[in-house]
Formats: sequence, structure tokens, C-alpha cells
Amino acid sequence: MEYEVPLHVDACLGGFLIAFMDQAGFPLKPFDFRLPSVTSISCDTHKYGFTPKGTSVILYRNSELRLHQFFAVADWPGGIYGSPTVAGSRSGYLIACCWATLMYYGIEGYVKETRKIIQVARDIADGWNKIDGVYLLHQPDVSVVAISSNKFNIYYLFDGLHAKGWHLIGLQNPPGIHIAVTQMHTQPGIVDKLLEDTRQCVEEILKSNTKKDTITVYV
Ligand SMILES: *Cc1c(COP(=O)(O)O)cnc(C)c1O
Repeated sequence: MEYEVPLHVDACLGGFLIAFMDQAGFPLKPFDFRLPSVTSISCDTHKYGFTPKGTSVILYRNSELRLHQFFAVADWPGGIYGSPTVAGSRSGYLIACCWATLMYYGIEGYVKETRKIIQVARDIADGWNKIDGVYLLHQPDVSVVAISSNKFNIYYLFDGLHAKGWHLIGLQNPPGIHIAVTQMHTQPGIVDKLLEDTRQCVEEILKSNTKKDTITVYV
């Protein structure tokens, strides 16, 4: 702030959760324009805004900052070309679906979904934390829960859960696996099933150590 360096908050993943967490009963430290040095924030509507893929939002503290968003060519033979995005032509269909979804949920709907998702993330963290052989890589504030192990190669658990139908995501540096809790995981019985499957896999892994390794590749 002292040197007037703009500060962008990339809230793409969790933007539509953290904005509603206070109201959902899970207070968070401020991360947004309440902090005087924050100048822009991105939030993906197509993640926890539950809209179809292909829309996102960028917010600027003021319209002067927003001016830098635009690209314009004045001497193009086809006339003045201006665009606020890197992508040129975009589908109005996606914008309409995004708007309709936002209207469908409304603030109340998002608060309700946030409450369910965060509660499930905390339940998974608590459950995993109680399983001997794995440990939480962090105490999750929001919807992503990550674990690792210092008793076995954590990718064995990744493979074991995959075989039981859980498509978790591998991490590296440090090695780990994580789940980004979504609406689907808030259905009754899902958390218990995940915890039970994790317990079973960990038990089996601890009994045998003859499995092949998995390398995590994110593309
Ligand atoms: C999803 C995401 C983005 C943007 O990726 P898109 O594919 O454009 O949606 C940027 N930052 C973070 C942290 C994200 O989770």
C-alpha cells in the first residue's frame, strides 16, 4: 500500500464460499476489499457459483483500475476493436446460464450450500485426523482437505481410494492427496463412506508394502 503496488486476491476456487462463510456460521479473517490494500479479486462463478463451465468474475476496487482491463485497437480496418477479455467472441448462452444460476441460488441459497460444504469438509478433516497412519497437511478453513503420511507412500492410498471409486487429487512437494468438497459430497452417507474406505485402505497398506508407486501429474 505504501508503494501503491496493486494487490490481487485470487479467490477463483473459493470465492463463492468465503464470501458467505460469516453468514453460514464459519467466520473467516477478512480477505476482500475490507482490507485497504486489496485492489482486485477474482471469483470463478463456474466453481462454487455452480454455473456451467466457462464464466468467471473479476472485481476491481474502482473504475480507474478497471480501465486497464480493456484491450483496444483503434486503426483496425474493420473499425475500432475493443474487448475486455483475452478471449474474443464469447457465448451469450453461458452468460445467461450464469445469470440464471445466480438468481436461482440467491444469497440465501449460497449461504445454505456454503454451510453444508464447509461442515462436510470439517467432518472429513476430523475423520481423517483420527486415522492412524495419515495426518492432515493443514487445518482447512474452507473446502479443501489434504492429507499425507509418514508411515507409507501416500500415493498407495490415492490408488486404493481410486479403486473404490474416489477420484481424489494427488499433490507433490510435499506428497499428499486432497479432496475439494463439492455439493455432491454433502449428500447423506458420503462422508461416512469416504472415511470407512480410507480406514480400510490404510489398514491394508500398513499390512503390505508391495505396491507400485504413482507419480502425480497435473495437466
Ligand atoms: C480455477 C482457478 C483459476 C482459474 O482457472 P480457470 O480454468 O480459468 O477457471 C485460477 N486460480 C485458482 C486458484 C483456481 O482455482
